[in-house]
Amino acid sequence: MKILKIDHLGIAVKSIDAGKNFWLDILNLEFEGSETVEAQKVTTAFFPVGESEVELLESTAADGPVAKYIEKKGEGIQHVAFRVEDIEASLEELKEKGVRLIDQKPRIGAGGAKIAFLHPKSTNGVLVELCQRD
Ligand code: ZN
Repeated sequence: MKILKIDHLGIAVKSIDAGKNFWLDILNLEFEGSETVEAQKVTTAFFPVGESEVELLESTAADGPVAKYIEKKGEGIQHVAFRVEDIEASLEELKEKGVRLIDQKPRIGAGGAKIAFLHPKSTNGVLVELCQRD
């Protein structure tokens, strides 16, 4: 499998509106736009940083994965996303190597990217997302 770069860092926040000030006004990053992904009960807001992006994540429901994350651990880095060349082949390879996957097959995330999560039990406790964009 080939990892091309860190695509983005997913940061769980209680509120994008309340949280974006630091990224926008203090770090002077640009706000690229936001998008709600209903299937994952999350609204995302992207701030490009060079070749990568900061992705703020706000839950749209109390039982969403981001709400549960904040409940357990508070706001903070929720996942690291690596961009891969071929996500299907990458998942196959990881499966063969015994890596625990959350998603056996890619699903569609923000911006129409194909994404899949690996289980933190196999990744030193980090929720890792693979992401393929065309
Ligand atoms: Zn992500």
